[in-house]
Amino acid sequence: MDYPRRKSLSVRFNCSLQSRKHPPLSVMPFTAKPNSALLIVGHGSTENPDSSTPYFDHADEIRRRGLFAEVHVCFWKEEPSMREALFMIDAPEVYIVPDFISEGYFTQDVIPRELQLEGDTTVRHGKTLHYCLPVGVHRSMTDLILRRAQEVAPDADPADTTLIITGHGTGLNQNSTKAIRDQADLIAASGAGYALVTDAYMEEQPFIADWDKMADTSNVVVVPFFISDGLHSFQDIPVMLGLEKEVGPAASQTDVFRNNPNRLREKNLYYSSAIGTEPLIADVILDQVSDFDKKHSPAPPEAATLPPLSEHLKQLVRSGMTQIGQIRIQRDLCEFPYALHHMDEEDLATQPAFGGLEHHRGPGDARNISTYAEDGEYRFTKGKTNLRHGWIMTLDDEQDLLRALDQFYPGCTALFIKYKDGTLPIETLRKKLGRQTGMYRYADSISDEGAQKLIQKVCGPAHNCAKKILWKLDPETPLVDSEASRFNGILGAPPDKEAIPLLCREACNHFVAECRKAAKAESDAKPSSVKV
Ligand code: SF4
Repeated sequence: MDYPRRKSLSVRFNCSLQSRKHPPLSVMPFTAKPNSALLIVGHGSTENPDSSTPYFDHADEIRRRGLFAEVHVCFWKEEPSMREALFMIDAPEVYIVPDFISEGYFTQDVIPRELQLEGDTTVRHGKTLHYCLPVGVHRSMTDLILRRAQEVAPDADPADTTLIITGHGTGLNQNSTKAIRDQADLIAASGAGYALVTDAYMEEQPFIADWDKMADTSNVVVVPFFISDGLHSFQDIPVMLGLEKEVGPAASQTDVFRNNPNRLREKNLYYSSAIGTEPLIADVILDQVSDFDKKHSPAPPEAATLPPLSEHLKQLVRSGMTQIGQIRIQRDLCEFPYALHHMDEEDLATQPAFGGLEHHRGPGDARNISTYAEDGEYRFTKGKTNLRHGWIMTLDDEQDLLRALDQFYPGCTALFIKYKDGTLPIETLRKKLGRQTGMYRYADSISDEGAQKLIQKVCGPAHNCAKKILWKLDPETPLVDSEASRFNGILGAPPDKEAIPLLCREACNHFVAECRKAAKAESDAKPSSVKV
């Protein structure tokens, strides 16, 4: 086929790279918001831990700058869920920024539904929620793509280089394809000097697998227009490009980015990591908040008046609640106000030099420690009973303690505090299944009997989940008695210690996926005349 050609024009543009190696992004100065929280929303993945890494990195960077009272992340496929994240926030005003590449199904349907948003600004449970535009549609993304292209191929002469921006491409989201086409047009018009700037896709024409046929140049730079190095950008596209023979491990465990240039099909192929992993995305997130303020001019919020969650946590620990999940909380261990370690390793933790346990200062490593089990399994559900051993984390105050626990057991401290004071809303299974869309819509056709069986097959410590189920099937249908329905959310706490139970206020994504499979099996087992 003939591929559309976008010759680079000689129009000057403020992101021209011809005269500078690493251009500064033209970010707006950001006015600090000491009474507001930032909530970054991502997709997340049940299979690939690299998928959520950029969201945490951007949150860390913004937190480091001290611009908000709180910075949180939440996900569609990982924990904390969007609904649970709102319980973790003390601030009365929340800016919600979708870290998505385009407007579409997730930003227009899923996020508003899950966060119960009613428009640009929603007031719910005493909080004012501002819904910003997704990161990927911000005008500064063009600069970021150019920057990424130059970083990956610093010595390639643009005049002999084709720049391909690649994405998924699917009939399901025309906006994502349009966003990529727009970027290709903007860069072609930017004066960056590339011989050709074009778009290509995994699942629609022009196909990225044909990258060499699109380029007359010696060099080809491919920049994936994805928010993270998930399955597509680092496992599927490398195979389509011919860089790998088969789908490989996650990005963090592969060398696919580090071998540039690759000599392939008589060209030099440079492949970059996903555009969303660019550290300057943190600035784009802030830009979206500033743009929201410019457009809507919200009144500044009052300072929060209720005691923060960290203060509640301090009181819980003082009252003797020194375990959560598989973690023991120590007070005043050596010179440290708080320390966390695996509940099986109290003997080591209290020895000199912590008995040889790997010592982590501050909450920053909590995500790494909790991501993989000892056998290398990805713990996308943090309530799993396979937290690894061999570490101790020392913390300076209750804020750090809360931050660390929110990585080990996302949202669980806040849920328990709300549960204790009787303000935690609980979602029935039918309500949870009823709000599924896309391929998971089908999950709601599971029978009550099938759902009860599934709870016994999937939940509870016998199946590696340490959470206490709070929900019923529907308001009139409690769970049938079983080890899973009886479990109290506390794993083997000694009699002299109390624990903060892990609570399941609505069925997790893993359970929803299992419902879908079971519903399908039920349907397949029915005579064809009564199939759903
Ligand atoms: S639904 Fe079941 S498996 Fe999922 S978190 Fe709740 S108790 Fe655990």
